[in-house]
Amino acid sequence: MIPYGRHSIEAEDIDKVVEVLQHGNLTQGDQVPALEQALAEYVDVPYVSMVNSATSALHLACVALGVSRGDIVWTSPLSFVASANCARYCGADVDFVDIDPETLNISLPLLERKLVLAASEQRLPKAIVVVHFTGLSVDMQALQQLAGAYRVALIEDASHALGADYQGRKVGCCDFADAVVFSFHPVKMITTGEGGAVLTRHWQLHDHVRRLRSHGIEKNTAAIQSGDCPPWYYEQHELGFNYRITDVQAALGLSQLQRLDEMVARRRQLASRYDHLLGDLPLVLPPRGNEASQSSWHLYVIQLQQPQLRAELYAFLHAHNIGVQVHYIPIHWQPYYQQLGFSRGQFPLAEAYYEQCLTLPLFPGLSDEQQNEIARLLHLFFKQSSAELSL
Ligand SMILES: *Cc1c(COP(=O)(O)O)cnc(C)c1O
Repeated sequence: MIPYGRHSIEAEDIDKVVEVLQHGNLTQGDQVPALEQALAEYVDVPYVSMVNSATSALHLACVALGVSRGDIVWTSPLSFVASANCARYCGADVDFVDIDPETLNISLPLLERKLVLAASEQRLPKAIVVVHFTGLSVDMQALQQLAGAYRVALIEDASHALGADYQGRKVGCCDFADAVVFSFHPVKMITTGEGGAVLTRHWQLHDHVRRLRSHGIEKNTAAIQSGDCPPWYYEQHELGFNYRITDVQAALGLSQLQRLDEMVARRRQLASRYDHLLGDLPLVLPPRGNEASQSSWHLYVIQLQQPQLRAELYAFLHAHNIGVQVHYIPIHWQPYYQQLGFSRGQFPLAEAYYEQCLTLPLFPGLSDEQQNEIARLLHLFFKQSSAELSL
């Protein structure tokens, strides 16, 4: 089966991991800080905290930005559930803003309308979690202008977008957001097995995230530094978590980061090949981006002009060992969110997209030959289905 996404592990990655297993600390050694620094340099941001998943990273970003019971957090209905769940961990309510069908990201005109209404009702969100869907950045400058006027915090869920470019800078630089989150799950751009990161330009937010990922414990208080305390002394200041990532995982991530640009380049090349190979089929191809915004191409998503064929196409490709997938079932359709009062039909643009979308395989190790075969099968499918229609 050719999966929709797959990690790329090479001999040098394995060597680096083995080195830590043989000589290093398994956790809290030098690999996590080294990866944090390398990532900070790559995206050009002062502060990075590695954690054990993007889900944990989103949670900590919300806590550190003060999201709590009684607050509201807005996000896109077209994302993985973690983009919304982070607010629920803090006891906050979630609401959604529908998508822009052109970019598949949160719609800025709809967001503006909702902000105006919320301001008049004094129900402004505490934070907005924006998702760079498939790796194409939201127009963050425009978003910041909108949200900044209402003093709403901005979190970028950039789980898809490590290596993407926006206005000549790397996604993650935090020029237009309070915090940016990455995921290092194996299907994402680079992997640590499981893993995530919180990036920010605010020292206080960073310091808080760092403390929260390790139980809320502080080992560097003034009292400790002044030597007035015994050497084993530590203080817990608040209720934190154990969201730490291991040094074994960080060694893998550090090695992977060296090849990130190469892997993004291959993804971009494969995306262009798909565009070329599929251009004459009854499909809407994924958003292309532009000079200012270049995707990292985490996912290659097609939309069928005949949504009724989607399930058949999915089954056809799986029968030929092509592991296509669907991203995503709208979050507000999940039973958990339905129990909170959301209903189908509330965000019709994300729902219409969901009914006709399919994610084709795209990962650095996909060969031209495999991709040609996927395109051949798609042509065969549409030829057969149009023959059936004309009978
Ligand atoms: C993968 C993903 C997450 C969750 O990442 P984990 O590292 O698995 O916790 C969150 N948001 C989006 C948009 C994702 O794609």
